[in-house]
Amino acid sequence: MIKAYAATEPGKLLKPFEYDPGILLSEQVEINVEYCGLCHSDLTFWKNELGLTQYPFVPGHEVIGTVGAIGDRVTTVKVGQRVGLGWYSHSCLHCQWCMSGDHNLCSTAEQTIVGRYGGFADKVRANEEWVMPLPKSLDPAKAGPLFCGGITVFNPIVQFDIKPTDRVGVIGIGGLGHMALRFLHAWGCDVTAFSSNPNKEAEAKELGADHFVNSLDSQALAKVVNSFDLILSTVNADLDWSVYLNALRPKGRLHFVGIVPNPIQSLAILMIVGQKSISGSPLGSPATVTKMLDFAVRHNIEPVTEIFTFDQVNEAIAHLESGKARYRVVLKH
Ligand SMILES: [Zn+2]
Ligand SMILES: [Zn+2]
Repeated sequence: MIKAYAATEPGKLLKPFEYDPGILLSEQVEINVEYCGLCHSDLTFWKNELGLTQYPFVPGHEVIGTVGAIGDRVTTVKVGQRVGLGWYSHSCLHCQWCMSGDHNLCSTAEQTIVGRYGGFADKVRANEEWVMPLPKSLDPAKAGPLFCGGITVFNPIVQFDIKPTDRVGVIGIGGLGHMALRFLHAWGCDVTAFSSNPNKEAEAKELGADHFVNSLDSQALAKVVNSFDLILSTVNADLDWSVYLNALRPKGRLHFVGIVPNPIQSLAILMIVGQKSISGSPLGSPATVTKMLDFAVRHNIEPVTEIFTFDQVNEAIAHLESGKARYRVVLKH
C-alpha cells in the first residue's frame, strides 16, 4: 500500500490515505518520495477549479526521491538513484509530437495529479521518460520546484531562442517569476522585474533583475515603451496588456506562463505595427528539463524555498494561499 495525503472533497483538509498501486508496469519507475514541492496548480486541482479533479485527490507534482523499484523494461534509471518528477508522468512516445521531442505537447500525456495519485505520499509512480536523474550537485531539498515552476519559465527561453543580448521583462515576482529572474540573469539578458509590490525591489535585484518597475505606476510604465524583446507574464491576475504590448520592441513577444482569469484583450493594431506576438506555453519536454538541470548546475541556480514536513501539509497549503510564501513551499518526510 502507498501512504499518501488526500482531500476527499474540494478544498477540504488533506488527511492520511492509503491506496494499492497494483503491479509495477514494465516502463514504470516507483519513486520513494523524499521531498515534494507545493505548487499553485495543486491548489487549483484541490479546489476543482477546472472541473477535472477526481477525489480522493492526492496533490504533488514536484517530486524528488530515490528510485525504489523499476519495471523490467526500464533502462534510464537504476534502483537507489536520486530522481525528479514533475507535472507529466507519461507520454505516448509515438505521436507526431512525442516523435519530435515535444512530449509535453502529447495530447494523451498523463499528468501526475490528474486522474491519478500524486507525490504527497511515501511513493509515487511514473513512466521512465518523465523520471529525470537529479544531478548530484543540486540540493534535493530545494530542487523539486525546478520540475514544475522552474521548467515552466525556462522552456520559453529555449523555445524562442532568447539571446544574451535580449532585453527581457518578467511580470510577477513569485513562485514562477523569481526563478525566471535567476535563469534570465544567468542567460546574460538585461532583466526587468515588474511587480505591483514596490517592497520587492531589493529582493528582485538580488534574484537577478537589473531594473525594477512598479506595475501600478503609470509613469514608470510609460518610460519603458519600446524596450523589450520578450515579456514573460507569470501572474494570475488581469492586467492592462496593451501597456505591455507597447513596452515591446519590434518583433517582441508577450508570453504567458501564468493563467489569468479573463480573456487577454488587445487591439490587433498593437501587434501588427512592430510585428509583435502574444503566446503561451506549458512545461517543457524531457530534453528541455535535462537542459535546464544542466544549466542550473552550471550557474548554481536553485529556487528559494520554505520547508514544511508532510504532516504539516494543511499548514503549508494555508501558507501558500496566504500569498506569503517566499517563494516555493517544499514538503519533506
Ligand atoms: Zn506545478
Ligand atoms: Zn505522444
